[in-house]
Amino acid sequence: MDPFDSNNTERANLPRNMIENSMFEEEPDVVDLAKDSAAFPTFPALDPDEVVYEPRSSRLLVRGLGENELDEEEEDYESSARLLGMSFMNRSSAHRPSSSPYTRQAPPRSCSRPSARTMVVCVLFLVIVASMTMVLYFLPGCTFTRTGCPKSNSTTPIDPAYPNSTNGELFPWTELRLPASIRPLHYDLTLNPDLKTMTFTGHTVISMSVQHNTKRIVLHSAELNITKATFQLDDGKPSDVTVLEYKPRQQIAVKFTEELKAGQHLVLTLDYSANLSHNYDGFYNSSHTDKNGVKSVLAATQFEPLAARKAFPCFDEPAFKATFLVKISRESGYMTLSNMPKAKTTELPSGLLLDEFEKSSVNMSTYLVAFIVANFTSISENVSDTLVSVYSVPDKKEHTRFALKTASKLLQFYNNFFDKTYSLKKLDLVAIPDFLAGAMENWGLITFRETSLLVGNNSSRLEQQLVASVIAHELAHQWFGNLVTMSWWNDLWLNEGFATYMQYMSLQREFPELDTDNLFLAMRFRALAKDALNSSHPVIVKVDTAEQVLEMFDSVSYEKGASILLMLNASLPGEQFRKGIIEYLRKFSGLNTVTEDLWNSLTQAEVTPQHQSVSEMMKSWMLQKGFPLITVSRSKGQVTLTQEHFLLTADNTTRSSSLWHIPVTYVNDSCSLEPECKQLFTLKTASGTLKLPDNVKWLKLNYRNTGFYIVHYGDEGWKALIDALNQNISVLTHEDRASLIHNMFALSRLGRVTFRQVLSLLNYISNETDTAPVTEALSQLTTIYKLLDKRQELGLVARMKAYILNRFDSLICKQTWGEELSASKQKLRSALLESACSLDHPYCVQNATELYKQYLESNRTKQIPGDLQRLVFTVAARSDEGWVQVLQMYAHATYDAEKRKMLQALASTQDTRRIVWILKAVLNGETVQTQELPLVFSTVSNGFAGHLFTWNFIQENWNRLIEKFPVGSSAIQSIITSTTSQFSTQAHLDQVQGFFTSLKERGSQMRVVQEALETIRLNQCWMDRNLPAFRQWL
Ligand SMILES: [Zn+2]
Repeated sequence: MDPFDSNNTERANLPRNMIENSMFEEEPDVVDLAKDSAAFPTFPALDPDEVVYEPRSSRLLVRGLGENELDEEEEDYESSARLLGMSFMNRSSAHRPSSSPYTRQAPPRSCSRPSARTMVVCVLFLVIVASMTMVLYFLPGCTFTRTGCPKSNSTTPIDPAYPNSTNGELFPWTELRLPASIRPLHYDLTLNPDLKTMTFTGHTVISMSVQHNTKRIVLHSAELNITKATFQLDDGKPSDVTVLEYKPRQQIAVKFTEELKAGQHLVLTLDYSANLSHNYDGFYNSSHTDKNGVKSVLAATQFEPLAARKAFPCFDEPAFKATFLVKISRESGYMTLSNMPKAKTTELPSGLLLDEFEKSSVNMSTYLVAFIVANFTSISENVSDTLVSVYSVPDKKEHTRFALKTASKLLQFYNNFFDKTYSLKKLDLVAIPDFLAGAMENWGLITFRETSLLVGNNSSRLEQQLVASVIAHELAHQWFGNLVTMSWWNDLWLNEGFATYMQYMSLQREFPELDTDNLFLAMRFRALAKDALNSSHPVIVKVDTAEQVLEMFDSVSYEKGASILLMLNASLPGEQFRKGIIEYLRKFSGLNTVTEDLWNSLTQAEVTPQHQSVSEMMKSWMLQKGFPLITVSRSKGQVTLTQEHFLLTADNTTRSSSLWHIPVTYVNDSCSLEPECKQLFTLKTASGTLKLPDNVKWLKLNYRNTGFYIVHYGDEGWKALIDALNQNISVLTHEDRASLIHNMFALSRLGRVTFRQVLSLLNYISNETDTAPVTEALSQLTTIYKLLDKRQELGLVARMKAYILNRFDSLICKQTWGEELSASKQKLRSALLESACSLDHPYCVQNATELYKQYLESNRTKQIPGDLQRLVFTVAARSDEGWVQVLQMYAHATYDAEKRKMLQALASTQDTRRIVWILKAVLNGETVQTQELPLVFSTVSNGFAGHLFTWNFIQENWNRLIEKFPVGSSAIQSIITSTTSQFSTQAHLDQVQGFFTSLKERGSQMRVVQEALETIRLNQCWMDRNLPAFRQWL
């Protein structure tokens, strides 16, 4: 899935937050891991049925690295548990709650050490709390229990904590993960959606086999009203059974008096009815209005990660792969689509038509199943025996050509690169009018947001870049994710990190004109900013609540995952990476895997005699959060590199002893541009030394920024690099120059360099003309500008503005305003001019106004270049008249890419009444689709007038927001980040903390809340530290 709103990543914050979106080989040793936790209810007899399903990963015992001072045995145990990421971890967490790295840490309150007075007060407070606790504890009749106090003392043993089903009977399962005793083999699904009543009925037949003796079948179902259930054992007669439901965990169960025996074959048939969802997951309804104002409704699905259970009862975990046969009834004016090609259509007695699709030729996870009922049109072409089609609403058929061309080319690329042909006979790409994520990789039926798939014939390269990126990502999933799937959501990065990496790699090779290299570089900078926070998490992390599953769809899984793969590929010789991938896909085709399987395949594919274990290197990157800072110190020919955790914290007390296995690359002044110049040094310990000729003037580490680390060159090292750049900027590649700028700002944030040093580096930028260094510098400076602005430091705001405009003035004035063909130049131009116009650069505002005037005068036939549309509409919408005009255009626009730019222009208004109007409009879904809410919030929050409104709006409308977007979802993450990341005062910190604490189960536990609080604290400290310097230097 691509949950991110790529249109939105340009507007970065400080730190730049991501804004925007089988192996059923059961083994005895798996079974032996049955829970023995005291906290876990004990069943009368411990049978293998009590083990949650985890096909293979328990074989793994990879030693972890990290902050914990565990002894070796404990360490092994802990780290394998991290990899397992499941209920077995309960045991560990119950015994050693404080040793787990996953425990949410209490955030530090301030950036300075506590004073002696504070210490005394704290000690007194602790003594009082301890005394009260002891008094309470010894109060007769009151025992502290997990459910709280009071509870009467009793000597009788505690009953197993089976919860009650909806009918009052005990529900026979207590875990989030399903038991391993039953394995689904095949689903026969019949769906009868009624698009008038927005309801559907379903008939699901599940064939299963018994893996271990058991007396129950437990599976998932959510919001389905089950009307009839029958059960058949082997060749016996079907009989009616009672289905128990436990809603909090979205599970249903059938209990048996006789044991089902391993090897038996079962069939469970369930009839049910439900409403089509009004949100964006499950089987949900959507609508569109055509050019003539005629509205049509449609129904589509979005199942990843936990919503297949909302459309049909199923074993809704990625490791329960099965085959599927789907039948859908429809009215004659509609068409249906599913993962497989249509096999036949029959007429039903009711007059409806029943489309039956071929039985899936592959085993699939439930989250990849999809179906659509709509009146779309399509264009198609054949690519290596696969029929590739792009579907859209009829009015937008002309916008599908680019997607078809791109998908076809990329399909061929992946067929070759993976040395394995795409598995199905057809591949549909469908643009859905209401769609929250960017896209979803359902096997054979990829669904997209319209703006992620459709581009006009005159689209700009940047629009094409976005669409091609999403297509490349989803196509990569057809292998990575669909063919080979992670066993559980803790290894989500195997899907998402890989698809993200492949998206950039494939586009770089097949569409170099789209200049996605710069996009990838900016993404890596973003990933570093997120991962520098103490609230970040290891790539592989324990996941055992539904919210935690949703939270895995974050920057770490996608962006850090992809960054690490790039670093690995860059450090492996020749074709080892690709060979390893091919071997991995061959070996695990159709199965589920854990991360170690990938490393093993990559190690076995080694092409050089010296053996290097990929796993050995990668575990330090996967199992601990964050990344290293390398500090360089040089004494003539001897260079010492030391590593430490680059950890941004607001207090000085947080310590980390994490070490990484770093493939350090470096170049120097004698040879710095070509790949052959690159030298490699492996740093595994806290420090290491390398030799250089004495006459080397400067050293640049992390060649082209392919490594996931930050470098501090020390005062002299920085000075040498800055001198070199001032003499000739071409001594380094543009990625290296951008990387220096990025690292310098990051070090400033960490407090390792002064802001004077930052400015000293930026002196060279007047000579800079390449996109990546300019956009990086602009983005960093704009972020600081916005912080000062929100802090109402008006004097400094004016000076910062003058500084930015002055630095980039000549480059701004060099920009042209006509059509520009190069993606890189479009990116440079739009970033520069958007900053310039937002800072009221007269040349920029004047040109934008002129362009808008011409556009109106030509009755909108004279197109504004795509990369300039957002800024031109934004400048236009500053006036009352212009805002109303843009709103009217927005209401009538049909081309989605353009429409979104108009929306951003409307949301960037500084008129508070209009801000309130637009926030309400998007929440109600009137005039503005609710799917645009994260984009509207981030745009409004960027403005001075709007940022407090959005924060108030969130607080007042929280319940409605989480009705539309689940707690933990990417949309909620984005909303929280964009509305809070520019706060930098204690008052705002207290407010944000107070509000989220009050939410309790409605969101207080989200990781993004910790991130938000930490970001505010960091902003606050950064301001405290730098405001005096700003006053002095700017
Ligand atoms: Zn994805």
